[in-house]
Amino acid sequence: MIKISELFYSVQGEGQYVGVPSIFVRTFGCNFTCGGFGMPRGELSTERDQVAKNLIPNVKYNELPLVSTGCDSYASWDPRFKHLSNVMSTESIIIDIKKMLPNNAFDRDKHLIITGGEPLLGWQKNFPELIDECIKIGLTHLTFETNGTKKLTDDFFSYLVDKASKGLEITFSISAKLPCSGEKWESAILPYIVKKYVSIPNHRSYFKFVVSTDQDVIDAQRAIVEYKAAGIDIPTYLMPVGGVNSVYELNERQVADYCRDNGLRFSPRIQVPLYKNAWGT
Ligand code: SF4
Repeated sequence: MIKISELFYSVQGEGQYVGVPSIFVRTFGCNFTCGGFGMPRGELSTERDQVAKNLIPNVKYNELPLVSTGCDSYASWDPRFKHLSNVMSTESIIIDIKKMLPNNAFDRDKHLIITGGEPLLGWQKNFPELIDECIKIGLTHLTFETNGTKKLTDDFFSYLVDKASKGLEITFSISAKLPCSGEKWESAILPYIVKKYVSIPNHRSYFKFVVSTDQDVIDAQRAIVEYKAAGIDIPTYLMPVGGVNSVYELNERQVADYCRDNGLRFSPRIQVPLYKNAWGT
């Protein structure tokens, strides 16, 4: 059983696999709150507190308002919205996945993305059953979207190594949190945790730092140095802050220029212009 905030089929909007049609399994829970996104440095957003205060009874998860500051997937971890996420069995998740996929199956061009919240919290023990069932219906590529702070359990690590050796492509999309997120450096930049992710054979992992200012880019470079010192040298993307168009548009060009000038990769967030970052996209 896994507590699922969202289960949907869309186009990957960020990172290395932008444009790949993908099933998103969004688990409930996160070890961070990331109230700093879109705020002046040192300040934390209170937008989601307003949403919680004005919550309409019987509102559905996908009817919640979007926020322009703080974590844009707040309802996938804030306990005040916990009741909007359902606990689902692997069997019912797979039934839904099959219904959503064209031809009811995965293939090279349809990926599975396990995201959150932070998906590598307590759910690791439940993932093998889900992944095995997805492999039975053609899964070849699996991505975890993680903040890079949660240790892989020995059992889950062994499981992933075994699957990788049998041909499953495994990606950790590591969105390590810089100080602009509002999280503390010592809790967020943990090379010894990430090192384990990138020891899985043939992994396709990469970093994706959310930035908006010169200082954020300096922070990203400092993090890259720390990871490299631990032997982690994987592709690095900078991605504009902005869960709503008005914020995203302000940042997009600037971050692309930062990438060009610093020799780093640019990641858009195509779900924002395409789908207005609505829940389920
Ligand atoms: S780590 Fe990700 S899901 Fe968790 S609070 Fe931060 S932005 Fe939101």
